[in-house]
Amino acid sequence: MQESMPANRVARLPKAQGAVSVAPLYGADGFRADGLGEKRFMAERKLSEAERSLIETARSVLPGGGFGNVSHDIILARGRAGRVWDVSGNEYVDYLLGSGPMIVGHAHPEVVEVVQKVAASGTTFFTNNEYGIRLAAVIVEAVPCAERVRFVSTGSEADLYAMRLARAFRNRDKILKFEGGYHGMSDYGLMSLAPKRAGNFPQPIPDSAGIPKSIRDEILVAPFNDLETVASLIREHAHELAGIIVEPFQRLIPPAPGFLEGLRKLTHDYGLVLIFDEVVTGFRFAYGGAQAYCGVTPDVCTLGKAIGGGFPLAAIAGRADIMAHFDKAAVAEDQFLTQIGTLSGNPIAAAAGLKTLEILKRPGAYAQIFNTGRALMEGYREILRRRRVAARVLGAEPMFDVVFADREMKDYRSARGDEMAMRQLNILMRERGILKSESKHYIALAHTEEDVAATLEAFDASIAALSTRAA
Ligand code: PMP
Repeated sequence: MQESMPANRVARLPKAQGAVSVAPLYGADGFRADGLGEKRFMAERKLSEAERSLIETARSVLPGGGFGNVSHDIILARGRAGRVWDVSGNEYVDYLLGSGPMIVGHAHPEVVEVVQKVAASGTTFFTNNEYGIRLAAVIVEAVPCAERVRFVSTGSEADLYAMRLARAFRNRDKILKFEGGYHGMSDYGLMSLAPKRAGNFPQPIPDSAGIPKSIRDEILVAPFNDLETVASLIREHAHELAGIIVEPFQRLIPPAPGFLEGLRKLTHDYGLVLIFDEVVTGFRFAYGGAQAYCGVTPDVCTLGKAIGGGFPLAAIAGRADIMAHFDKAAVAEDQFLTQIGTLSGNPIAAAAGLKTLEILKRPGAYAQIFNTGRALMEGYREILRRRRVAARVLGAEPMFDVVFADREMKDYRSARGDEMAMRQLNILMRERGILKSESKHYIALAHTEEDVAATLEAFDASIAALSTRAA
């Protein structure tokens, strides 16, 4: 999450028992709150006239000069397997992976082939189509909670409808979410997504301008991994609470042993709908998602990213009796949940998703993803130890990152590290040919041992540049 900061600050790396001192990286001039150090980065990478001109156009026609997704001025032109190239021809090992969908790698030949074939027969119909139906069947077979599937185009939509579904099913208004939990960009999802100040639980803090004040009354916020708080909030609000939405791995924070099981028991006992947001974790931790990986089955889940194979497609999947609210014929008129989307179940996206899931289902696919992630996580830990930097590698093999803090990380507040140090590390890595999101590495099936070796070398050099040994 972005946070603006004073222009003159440089990162202070947390010290491991006084061993690390700080080397100022960039002068105030090269590090701006709005550009987040881009000035220096842009000066260092090779920048072609074509890319420079595109950047200028972007700055004149797009708010903030970009699509809103990433902070930096970098225009990617192509990708292949675990690598991407910018318009100027610079090559990167890619851990951004389009923010997750490209789990089998960019331009996978089998995905490209099926997409080209399907596109040649028409790209959208609005009606049912074969690929969407087949993808729904694959999801029902793979994902433990999925008895029925409703397609939408983005994860934000899926989460918005999943929460509405819980409200329709229970005929109650309130949803409990966790501080720092990401559930898309709806008014509800943006409650306490990344609050800059610590509020009082369970009051939510809106993370955007333009959200009606009344929405605050519909969301309760609890700390992740804190079953006791959840239990007391449920007891207090049992008569008005419809359900709980949770990322099984909240951003990168693993669920504490028993936490998801505890949520399952509480929601079951109080008759609340348990929603797992598996937009990120679905088909990433295991073929059946984090619910298969953790062995806890929610009532409803949301899926996105991987299931669209790089195209806009997401889904709500869940118990048949709950999903029945999407079916006009199955429920009373006032219980019917209206949901329509022009591109829902789009045949190209569904075909790309089907092929992606077929590739992931092949023997050894998840072992390969986990092995790559493990090699990087262990390599990073060794480098941080050797260079005596007090930082942790947080997450699990398919997705993780470095957090510049040295403490147990179990919820949003405890997992917040030095964001300036993080940002500088990301810039240093990019200068050395490693692309990642602001706070995550995603691992692809296509990443190779060579990619891992190049990344560890870049990480070692970046950490060295970020810190200097105290005398
Ligand atoms: N839920 C989670 C857990 C996510 O990480 C995201 C996106 N990063 C979303 C929902 C929203 O998905 P989308 O960007 O497709 O709207």
